[in-house]
Amino acid sequence: MTSTSNPLVRDLNYFVLSAANPAAIHLLSEIQSKSSPPTLHSGEETIGYRISIPSHNSRQDEACYKWRVGAGPSPAIAKMGDIFVPEILLCPQDTSQTPSSKTVRAYIKHIHAVLFLHPQSGALVLRSRSNKPIIYEQGDIHDQDVEICGGPDSKVKSCVLRRRKNYLQFGPYRFLLEFTVSHQDRGRFSKTIDRSLHHRHHKLFSFIPSTDIETLWNVWLHRKVPNSSSLQTGVHIYTGQPVAVKTLHNKIRGRRYMIDQIKLASRYRDKADNGILGILDVWCEHWTSPPCLLKPSSAVIQCRTTYFSMPLAEQNFLHKRWRKLDTNTHLKYLYQTLCGLAELHGQGIVHGNIQPGSLLIYEQRAYVSLCMQRPDAYDPSICAAPEVWLDKYRELDETKLDIWALAISWLFTCLRPPADLMITRHSYKHLQTTLKSRRDKGRVSEPLFDLLQEMLAWDPCNRPSAIEALNHKAWLPVLPRIARKARGSRTRRLIQAVERREQRAKEL
Ligand SMILES: [Zn+2]
Repeated sequence: MTSTSNPLVRDLNYFVLSAANPAAIHLLSEIQSKSSPPTLHSGEETIGYRISIPSHNSRQDEACYKWRVGAGPSPAIAKMGDIFVPEILLCPQDTSQTPSSKTVRAYIKHIHAVLFLHPQSGALVLRSRSNKPIIYEQGDIHDQDVEICGGPDSKVKSCVLRRRKNYLQFGPYRFLLEFTVSHQDRGRFSKTIDRSLHHRHHKLFSFIPSTDIETLWNVWLHRKVPNSSSLQTGVHIYTGQPVAVKTLHNKIRGRRYMIDQIKLASRYRDKADNGILGILDVWCEHWTSPPCLLKPSSAVIQCRTTYFSMPLAEQNFLHKRWRKLDTNTHLKYLYQTLCGLAELHGQGIVHGNIQPGSLLIYEQRAYVSLCMQRPDAYDPSICAAPEVWLDKYRELDETKLDIWALAISWLFTCLRPPADLMITRHSYKHLQTTLKSRRDKGRVSEPLFDLLQEMLAWDPCNRPSAIEALNHKAWLPVLPRIARKARGSRTRRLIQAVERREQRAKEL
């Protein structure tokens, strides 16, 4: 049986780019009569490019999911040797320029744009490769037409095609890009796309727009995150990047805290090295950014909801995929979250609510994510250090509470402590015994065990600061790897400090 006759490997219809006004009909008809590209089909009513994707079991090459759109090489360019013809050709090919091809080339370049599947979200993105604009009708945040343009000053260089039917104008030529995956092919289509994505959180995405798409400012919403009432996933409508959107309720009480946290997290937008997960955008129910909350007026009284988006993490410290990680990657992730905490404490800021669920992994780095709303009171939780329950009137060192919470959150990656346990002398002893048995079984290395013991000291005075913990020898196996990648010199200095200390210990 040949591959073409096997129904399991037949290609899947994906979309059609068809003519949507007389100028475009005339253009495509001329291309068909002169060049007859194999994917250009015409019927009584329509003429357009039918694009499909190969469907088989192996992992797809990204090139399968990329289609160039353009006028193709002009006779002058072709003479110079560049004869690449885009997959979606929008100009008749002649050996010399004709009045008709001259008109087209005034609006459409050789390779004018590219359509591709976003490698993380699987959304279909149109990116301009020209400084002549493409109009995407109803494509912007407010459902108004948007100009997609590749020029250096252009605000929108790409756009996700987020509707079932997308109207695009290239100069006077209007086209309709319509998704054509059939109902019975949907499952197989999603599986095929799944296999080609770089990240495995695809269950949160819909690869084909439904008839009633929902956007929240610059995010095309996809799914609710399981076990979370306030978190949704989506893709950025211009870039296709997967994002998580969180809803915050504006309250008078705790408002200052929320403002400070939002401002803080915004500062880490493009600073992955610091170990804090930054936020991408903040807006409010009035669809303005900055949101009313951050405006110095009484507007906030009229505004009940603030939203923010951040990169969509692949997993947190509660997920069960840790067993598949090698020891050094595991250690590297712990180290990176400690760097995040040291960064905060270095600025005189305490986190106040570290939990395994707030330590996130994104693109093979671990981050501390900030808590935007201050928890009302301490709930019984193993992440709350023992002194919280011991003496209500004593002043608590909140940085040491963070250290305890971070060490406990790390434990969730190798054992399952009961999350709502209140630490007492008795449960503390039990925790110590469990930890020792993990060490004895080789599941926790000796140096890491020592560090955990220090960070989980009963008396907060005996716990190290974040910087002291970064200086611990537990990190030696991963520090050289991290230092090679680190741009800053802090990691290098730390390594030198640890190595000097080790050397002194040997000399003694
Ligand atoms: Zn508002």
